[in-house]
Amino acid sequence: VLSIGLDVGGTKTLAVALDDDREVVAQVRRATVRGPDGVLETLVAAATALADEIGEPLGALSAVGVGIPGVVDHRAGRVAHAVNLELREPLALGPALAHRLGLPVTVENDVNVAALGAAQLLGRADGDLALLSIGTGLGAGLVTGGRLRRGARGAAGEIGHVPVDPAGPLCACGQRGCLETLASGAALTAAWPVEGDVSSAAAVFAAAAHGDDLAARVRDVFAGHVAAGVRLLVLTCDVETVALGGGVSQVGPPLLDAVRAALRRQAGGSAFVTSLELPDRVALVPSDVPVGAIGAALAGMRR
Ligand SMILES: [Zn+2]
Repeated sequence: VLSIGLDVGGTKTLAVALDDDREVVAQVRRATVRGPDGVLETLVAAATALADEIGEPLGALSAVGVGIPGVVDHRAGRVAHAVNLELREPLALGPALAHRLGLPVTVENDVNVAALGAAQLLGRADGDLALLSIGTGLGAGLVTGGRLRRGARGAAGEIGHVPVDPAGPLCACGQRGCLETLASGAALTAAWPVEGDVSSAAAVFAAAAHGDDLAARVRDVFAGHVAAGVRLLVLTCDVETVALGGGVSQVGPPLLDAVRAALRRQAGGSAFVTSLELPDRVALVPSDVPVGAIGAALAGMRR
């Protein structure tokens, strides 16, 4: 029996089919069309293309999971505040997609499904893992005992909006000095503006590696704030692994090295923090696999 996972991003939607052993047996990618109708049609097209790829009718598949940015009511399958998908009103995506596909549909927040996918891929499928998603913003998905920890109101893991500097910059959320204003792709863009296709994250880490002292300082300050996020996650949830994901994690091993170095620096004077062995507990989300789509399929499977 195959399960489908659909990961909706602002520009592209990835779809995978997982077999009972949780192995990817097929995948397709589609450009995301924004707006309520566009998102629904994108998902129908991606699921249909995936079924064609497998050579089975849609009805032969068992379940569909969707990961989508925004505030998700997973019970109702409803998504709200998905600004970058141009969903201005709450959308009952789960029921609408279930009706179109004739299959049960589970809808989850995109960071949550990425956490499920990362737990599967990093050997924590039945254990404890936090995915720290470092994109334009900063947020975390929590898996404890192999299950998503959403929280009473779905805000578990919103550590990007923990204020860490009372004199810091104003955050989009209305508070001042949130961790997100210091440890995000947007923070790197503000500190190191670039033009063209390259990201600020890639540019800063490349310049630092080539001996640019200012870039090395920007990198190390940034890594220090990411490390603070890792420490916060371990001290609140004691997850075995904190996986670094999101767009900035595409920097790869140099990001992991910088964050590990920052964790060592920060633990310096504390036997307690040193005993937590934080540098050994931080990892990168695998870069060559569709982690979010795999997690979405797992979410659908668990329904
Ligand atoms: Zn904030």
